[in-house]
Amino acid sequence: MEHKFVRAIFPGSFDPITNGHLDVIKRGMRLFDELIVAVGRSPVKNQLFTPQERVEMIKELITDLPGVVVESFEGLMVEYAGQIHADVVLRGLRSLTDVQYEFQLALTNRAVAGIETVFIMSSEQYGFTSSTLIREVASLGGDLSNLIPENVHRRLVERFSRLKAQER
Ligand code: ADP
Repeated sequence: MEHKFVRAIFPGSFDPITNGHLDVIKRGMRLFDELIVAVGRSPVKNQLFTPQERVEMIKELITDLPGVVVESFEGLMVEYAGQIHADVVLRGLRSLTDVQYEFQLALTNRAVAGIETVFIMSSEQYGFTSSTLIREVASLGGDLSNLIPENVHRRLVERFSRLKAQER
């Protein structure tokens, strides 16, 4: 039987990308022909990095990953998924708490756009890693070297030292 080309979209805020996200990307790339990491440019205020900075950090991390690309998008995710002809949405699961929200999101996306969602669980070691906590711990100067890639760590340190300097 002929193989159908399958393109997946992995949407998220990625503010910033963590080892948990990266783990989902590396597992996901084995399942799909193309995996598009899609950084949402939603106009919410409490963002640490601009969409462009988030895309740059991801770009630096996927250079060796065949079939993985990064883009940013604005507006409704399923609309963007349609524009780029994505066949499936990829999302990561950390815990049962994620399941409830993700379940609702997946059903909504299927109802409004007819697109299916595939879930991947990250390795247990990243099960508690979230961008929100990373931002908090980084702002207090904690050691995050096991949870985020080196390039992200560098940028976080830079960002918070600049923000602290501005506060003074
Ligand atoms: P969003 O704001 O859309 O939830 P995130 O950047 O927080 O964007 O997350 C994008 C996706 O990655 C979500 O499906 C989220 O559940 C998943 N994810 C985040 N952190 C992890 C992790 N440590 N392990 C597995 N999946 C994760």
